[in-house]
Parts: sequence; structure tokens; C-alpha cells
Amino acid sequence: MKNHHWQNEIQPLIKKYKGKHHPLDYRNAYELLVVVVLSAQDSDRNINKLSPEFFNAFPDMNSLARADSESVLSLISKVRSSRKKTKWLLEIASQIKEDKNIPTTLAALTELPGLGRKSANVIMRELGVKAEGIIVDLHVVRVAPRLGIAQGTDPKKLEKQMMELLDPRDWGEAGMAISFLGREICRPKNPKCSECVMNAVCDYYQKNKPE
Ligand code: SF4
Repeated sequence: MKNHHWQNEIQPLIKKYKGKHHPLDYRNAYELLVVVVLSAQDSDRNINKLSPEFFNAFPDMNSLARADSESVLSLISKVRSSRKKTKWLLEIASQIKEDKNIPTTLAALTELPGLGRKSANVIMRELGVKAEGIIVDLHVVRVAPRLGIAQGTDPKKLEKQMMELLDPRDWGEAGMAISFLGREICRPKNPKCSECVMNAVCDYYQKNKPE
């Protein structure tokens, strides 16, 4: 098997997707926090469809903190686990109260209900604050082992392996870049390897490429 130097080898992928906006639509930190909570176990497209109406009704943390659960639930009823997410959003709003209090560290974000490491890493990347971890979403769980940059299926272990291989200054963009690669090119079936900027270093491609 090839000896890798992932810190160098991942640079073309980071370059390709650097700064690309997350597929979830949002206009500020408050909206970002809400759509990230809503999107757990659901599709970004579904959340983007209903979020404008939600933000018309509740334009900031302060208005959400004053909302009643029935009004929130009625706007997100088409979201998976809507009751649980209504509870989380109202708890978050009652703790944070104002947009200016939205936390920007991994520890503080993961203290909030409904937010795990993946969500916190996404929020921090989108806000442009210093990364403290690497985004491992469903796409990264599939693509990272294919590439060979990490092994296994446990998101926490995959994240730790990648954090050991990559420079912290690249953590924020690296996870999101692997996720974008999984969304666009490295699909579960028939990955488009011939178009992939990582094909020269990808373990899967090196094993399966046409002779
Ligand atoms: S070369 Fe193919 S398998 Fe490897 S990351 Fe790219 S698309 Fe995925």
C-alpha cells in the first residue's frame, strides 16, 4: 500500500471546495444554528424548503425564546423528529436568549441540546472560527475510508484519525471538502473517479482502477 502524506495530498481537495457555502441556506449565526439542528437525520433540501417561513415567524433567538411549542412545531411538522427538535430549539433559545450569545467553541456548542460534534464542527466552519475538530457527516464516513485517510465506521474514531494526520489549520475545510466530494463525485454507487481530484492518492481507486 502507498505511503501517504495526507497533509500534502489533501490540498487539491481543500483548494477545490475552500469557502464553499454549506448546502443549508442561512443568513446569520442564528439561522445557521437553527437549520443545523433541524437537518439532523433529514435532508438539507427539505430544511431549505421550510426554513424561510420559520424565519419569517421567528427572525432571531429572542423571538424564538418567547415562542410556544405549538407554533414552532406547526412550522417544522414536516421535519423528521419534529417534536424532539421543537424541544431542543426552545431549550437552546431559552439558554442563549440573544443572537450575540451564540457560542463559537466546540465545548459550548456541544453543551446545547441537539448538537453533537458534527453539528458543532459545521457551525464553526461556517462561522469561520478556528476549528477544534473535523466534520464527519454521513458522506465523510463513506469517503474517508475509501480514500484511505481513516479506517472504520465510527465517526468519532474517523475524526480522531484525521486530526492526527492533518494540520489543525486545515481541519475546518478538510472535513467539509471531503463531504462535498461525497455529495458531488464520490457517490455511494459508481463514484466518478475519473473526475476526482483525489484519484492519484485514493486507495479505492488505486485498487479498482482499470488496467
Ligand atoms: S477516486 Fe473515486 S473512490 Fe476515490 S475519492 Fe475519488 S471518487 Fe471516491
